[in-house]
Amino acid sequence: MGILSCFAKNLLGLNNSPKKINQGCAVLLYHRIFNPSIDAQLLSVTPENFEQQLIFLKENYEVISYQTLIHRLVEKNLCDRSICLTFDDGYVDNLTEALPLLEKYNMPATIFVCTGNIGKSNEFWWDMLENIFLAQNEKYLNWNALSPALDPIIVRYQNLQESFKSLNQEDRTILLSNLGKLCPPRENYRTMNLQELSELNSSELINLGAHTENHYSLGRIDQETSAQEIIASTQKIREITSSRHISFSYPFGGELDCRDDLDHVFKSENIDAVFLNQHGICNNNTDLKRIPRVLIRDLPSAVFGEFVNNLWN
Ligand SMILES: [Zn+2]
Repeated sequence: MGILSCFAKNLLGLNNSPKKINQGCAVLLYHRIFNPSIDAQLLSVTPENFEQQLIFLKENYEVISYQTLIHRLVEKNLCDRSICLTFDDGYVDNLTEALPLLEKYNMPATIFVCTGNIGKSNEFWWDMLENIFLAQNEKYLNWNALSPALDPIIVRYQNLQESFKSLNQEDRTILLSNLGKLCPPRENYRTMNLQELSELNSSELINLGAHTENHYSLGRIDQETSAQEIIASTQKIREITSSRHISFSYPFGGELDCRDDLDHVFKSENIDAVFLNQHGICNNNTDLKRIPRVLIRDLPSAVFGEFVNNLWN
């Protein structure tokens, strides 16, 4: 029976037992491999925990590349439990911290890059808001977005986080420069530059994808701007990778951040697969334009292992 493909097993009805229903690939979503003094949006996994997480995955799961995931999805051959690693945004630590560990354990990963800050020292706007409102005050250093709002400053920070998702880039810049005069950009909060992205791209383990130009919530802006955001970022990534086909992940990626009227853009830009930030396991019925992912927090190995093992339950 071992030699039968998943497809053949499907044909024979051998994959229909309840035990098999929850099999498939867990596409993990990381952002930063970094040890920050504050992490209000819970975007960072420390290098130490990341290494432990990779060791756990290596010992317990098949970790597949983006190309294998897409191939198996198209062939409807995604049967056994597997893991696929992805990163969103394109922070410089993806090169300096994540890549050496991915290479050490020979693990493939896809990195979706928000292209608007390539070659700039700018921080992303959510990091600037965190820096302006929270990072300067010790009492907020352990606060994060899953905690209740402590006071009016946190409420203001949270309101701005929400409104910035659909605010245009020009207004964001004006607002931030008024709010944050005393907060120069921090070097380890920047996006990778072109040379660094090329270096990353030259690794056989890394696949680069697009994540829009300005990180708007596409579900909250108009269709035309959404299309421009996708086109601009895919073109920049394609110039680095020289590959015709490309993958894309929605900024924020929740239900309200996505739209269902962009298929023509995905088609014209040769976007093979679209990734969300919506919890779920990818299986043979998954739509390639709506691939769920599992958001990963800064969990130590034992807690991470239990979390991952429970994903299929
Ligand atoms: Zn993002």
